Amino acid sequence: MSLDNRPVYTGGCQCGAVRFRVEGALGDASVCHCRMCQKASGNFYLPLVSVRGAKLDWTRGAPKRFRSSSAAWRGFCADCGTPLTFEAPDGIALAIAAFDHAEEIAPTIQWGTEAKLPYVDHIHELPGEDTMADISSSSYLADLVSYQHPDHDTEQWPPEERS
Ligand SMILES: [Zn+2]
Ligand SMILES: [Zn+2]
Repeated sequence: MSLDNRPVYTGGCQCGAVRFRVEGALGDASVCHCRMCQKASGNFYLPLVSVRGAKLDWTRGAPKRFRSSSAAWRGFCADCGTPLTFEAPDGIALAIAAFDHAEEIAPTIQWGTEAKLPYVDHIHELPGEDTMADISSSSYLADLVSYQHPDHDTEQWPPEERS
């Protein structure tokens, strides 16, 4: 929360070169299955939340942008490639999983369902294992060190010991 009790959200790309801060209420949260969002995210669908009614600040760096159509730009980190924005004439939306606390932003609608990939509705039916379940065949996981930016703002990044 900010001083005047408006909600505050932070997030950014995986490498930490781009960080954002959103102050105020978030708008609609959605997933988009359209082919353009699939290509822009390299993924089955793109989860986005509108920030058009809030105050968005880039607190470290800024996204590079690709004009993906006559109507929209897609922002991403030029250093690590994390998809970050969808920018249309009616406002900006941010990629939900780029938020530090993506678990707080639940989508409420699906768009672009004409392009929904046929297996997406069945993923939750697949067998599931946690990351460490196969430690015997992936022993590198035991002493893995993440180089991704943590899920909170940092004074300095990357940390001195690594640079
Ligand atoms: Zn990055
Ligand atoms: Zn889309």
